[in-house]
Amino acid sequence: MVKNDIRKGMGKKGTLIAFGGIMLVMLILVLGTIWMGHTAKKNADESVKVVSHLYLDELAGRREQVVSDNLKGRVFDMQTALEMMGEEDLIDEEHLQAYQAKMKKYFRLEKFAFVDEDGVIYTSKGQQNDIGTYAFDYHSIEGADISIKDLDEKNKSVIIAEPVELSLEGKKLVACFEEISMEEMLAGVSMQSQESDATFSNIYTQSGVALTNQILGGLAVEDNLLEAMSHADYDEGYSYEKVCDDFANLKQGEASFTYNDIYETLSYVPIEGTDWMLTYLIRESVISDKVGSLSQGIITRSVLMSILTILIMLAVLLFVLRQNRRNTELLLAKEAADAEARTRQEELDYRISVQKKLEEQSQMLSDALGAAEEANKAKTAFLSNMSHEIRTPMNAIIGLDNIALNDPETPEKTKEYLEKIGDSADHLLGLINDILDMSRIESGRLVMRNEEFSFQKLLEGINTMFSSQCADNGQDYQCHINGHIDEYYVGDSMKLKQVLINILGNAVKFTPEGGKVELEAEKKAEYEGQTTLQFRISDTGIGMSEEFLPHIFDAFAQEDSSSTNKYGSSGLGLAITKSIVEMMNGNIQVESEKGKGTVFTVTVTLMNSERSSGNIDFDVDPQKMCVLIIDDDPIACEHAKLVLGKAGISSEIAESGKEAIEMVQLRSARMNPYNLILVDWKMPEMDGVETSRRIREIVGGESAIIILTAYRWEDVLEEALQAGVDSFLSKPLFAPTVIEEYKSAMTKKGIVIDNEKVKADLEGRHILLAEDVQVNADIMMMVLQTRQIDADLAENGKIAVEKFESHEPGYYSAILMDMRMPEMDGLEATRTIRAMNRPDAKNIPIIALTANAFDEDVQKSMQAGLNAHLSKPVQPDILFETLENLIEE
Ligand code: ADP
Repeated sequence: MVKNDIRKGMGKKGTLIAFGGIMLVMLILVLGTIWMGHTAKKNADESVKVVSHLYLDELAGRREQVVSDNLKGRVFDMQTALEMMGEEDLIDEEHLQAYQAKMKKYFRLEKFAFVDEDGVIYTSKGQQNDIGTYAFDYHSIEGADISIKDLDEKNKSVIIAEPVELSLEGKKLVACFEEISMEEMLAGVSMQSQESDATFSNIYTQSGVALTNQILGGLAVEDNLLEAMSHADYDEGYSYEKVCDDFANLKQGEASFTYNDIYETLSYVPIEGTDWMLTYLIRESVISDKVGSLSQGIITRSVLMSILTILIMLAVLLFVLRQNRRNTELLLAKEAADAEARTRQEELDYRISVQKKLEEQSQMLSDALGAAEEANKAKTAFLSNMSHEIRTPMNAIIGLDNIALNDPETPEKTKEYLEKIGDSADHLLGLINDILDMSRIESGRLVMRNEEFSFQKLLEGINTMFSSQCADNGQDYQCHINGHIDEYYVGDSMKLKQVLINILGNAVKFTPEGGKVELEAEKKAEYEGQTTLQFRISDTGIGMSEEFLPHIFDAFAQEDSSSTNKYGSSGLGLAITKSIVEMMNGNIQVESEKGKGTVFTVTVTLMNSERSSGNIDFDVDPQKMCVLIIDDDPIACEHAKLVLGKAGISSEIAESGKEAIEMVQLRSARMNPYNLILVDWKMPEMDGVETSRRIREIVGGESAIIILTAYRWEDVLEEALQAGVDSFLSKPLFAPTVIEEYKSAMTKKGIVIDNEKVKADLEGRHILLAEDVQVNADIMMMVLQTRQIDADLAENGKIAVEKFESHEPGYYSAILMDMRMPEMDGLEATRTIRAMNRPDAKNIPIIALTANAFDEDVQKSMQAGLNAHLSKPVQPDILFETLENLIEE
């Protein structure tokens, strides 16, 4: 910055100096030019003078030469004429005249005359007696004589006379002369310069009389040159006297003088053969003026040139200055750029070094990541193996525990211990499942399935599970659907179920007896084939503290570690739940207050199913149906009305049994009974069964009565059937199920409709068990024997295939297939059996048994043609239920 200022300062000073310099040069140039001009003028004047003097003599001499040559020529001409004279020309005057006329013509003479001794003049025209007017003396001339005829005449004539000795008619001719006008004689001699009035040539007599009409180039007022010259001021070295003297003595000379304020130089030279003087006058002042104006022009031009030069110099200077400034600016900019570049370079260097460090760190990190990934893979593999390894003995524990419990010889006390062992084993199994889930999530191996599922069934399953759990715990369980939710969606129903079970499980777990657990579902949005569902799970349990809430979704987070024992938990459930929810493009939130309860809100996004409500094939015309909904919960009533309304079924609501009876009576009286009456089982005052009984008494067999319950209806089955109830439905309602149930109720009027598939009797069935681990096989055999099932053991897949093949079709009712087996694994064995050409190959139920509960295995086993999948250790109840469901009657 300081450097820049200094440079700028220097720049300013430099500019000033440059300007000053230019101005000085300008001054010098102008003054020099003016001085030079003046000096030049002076020198020019002097030069003019010198040159004038130099050339004056020359010019005067040359003119004198011409004039004298002219005169000489004339003399010669006259002499020639005389020589041409013959004797006959002098015969008489007449002949003479003829001769004279001829000569005049030849030699362009004005007059050619002869003079006799008496002074009589003989011209070509006759005689004249005016010899007195001529200046020459006809008696005494000896050779050619040149004179002026009359000095006083304006137009002067030159007379050239020559002595002759001739006689004419007795008269003696003594002289002859010719007369030429001065003008004619001086023809060809320029007396005045053409272009200017600066030089003049004149001829004067010795006494100063002008023969050419002009005196001093027409300047003088006097008639006589010498008289005029007497009034002039002479330069040094010249004088009037000298001029007079020179004229008197016919001497060549010159004089510079000022006459009438005009500076002139006069050169004079005597004309040979005459007493005339030829003068040459240079009017120097005119020349000086010319030279002066010339110099002035030169000065002006010089000054202009100087100014132009200065302007050019200035322009050049300005250009140079500008260039300089620009250079300076460029230099500054360059310096700034250099500085910036340096800074940038430094920054770059720094960044490079940082980047290097980062690269190193990144390398370290990626190494670490690689190692971690390796470790993670190892961990996953380890967990996968461990799961297999742990589940195998767990299988033995649970299986044996079950067998021991079912042994009638086991004492009561031991049974108690065995039950506790079973509980602990179940808990341990839960833990293993959680850890496996967690490890799947962490390793990114948790796969989301996209399968069509019945939302109603999902909810039913959950409701069945929790209504009975809550009933056992003395808690109130409610499930509501707000608004309309389609029956079918596409997504991973297993995972959604797991989420709801986890949260509801916690709600049940952390809610004391007498508390309430509620599940609400609602469709929040539907957009481009996707639907966002919201679940609200609330409880009136122990709640959580504000401090704990932010950590609730952390793995292994538990508010009170002592609760682990009390409630039997791992702290993994919600971490898993959150991960699953996020994989479903959803989120999970929690609100809780210590001692008051907790509310979890879960949203998930599911894809709409093409099978969604609306395309259900009704035999029953919904328009013609009229349904009565009896429920003390207005929300449940509204929901049922809405759901049915969506399907085009009109419905009426009664909020109590009493009100319902009145409405049914009214309708019956009008002979327009309800087609279907939906009665909630749990109602104050009059419960569902009692209400049904009363209604049945009114309507007889006309209307279908269905009891609505979220609970196990097995408890009230007998009583309800006796009361005239046709069927049971679990809440919340879905229109297609309602219609389905109504249809079957109407067709099987009077028979209790069990919407559960008729379960197969397992007793005496032949089941093929493929299992390579002996202990597992033993336990499974014992478990199966508890239901008098006749099991056949195959030690690997190959043997299983052979055994199946060697028995007639229909011999085996089902196959329990372990997945991991030597020689031929479960998947291949299943594929081989399914590919066989025998009637039972395609539909014999094959149930996968696996210790590896990863999702891919389940999917693989389904694709291979397996009907169900049971993870080890297999729980006898689930095993039997699966078998009952799958085996055809
Ligand atoms: P856990 O297997 O221990 O239930 P979770 O991750 O499911 O693990 O729950 C973590 C902790 O959050 C529980 O131990 C409990 O302290 C608290 N918690 C979860 N749900 C509830 C609830 N509904 N009421 C009170 N506390 C709850």
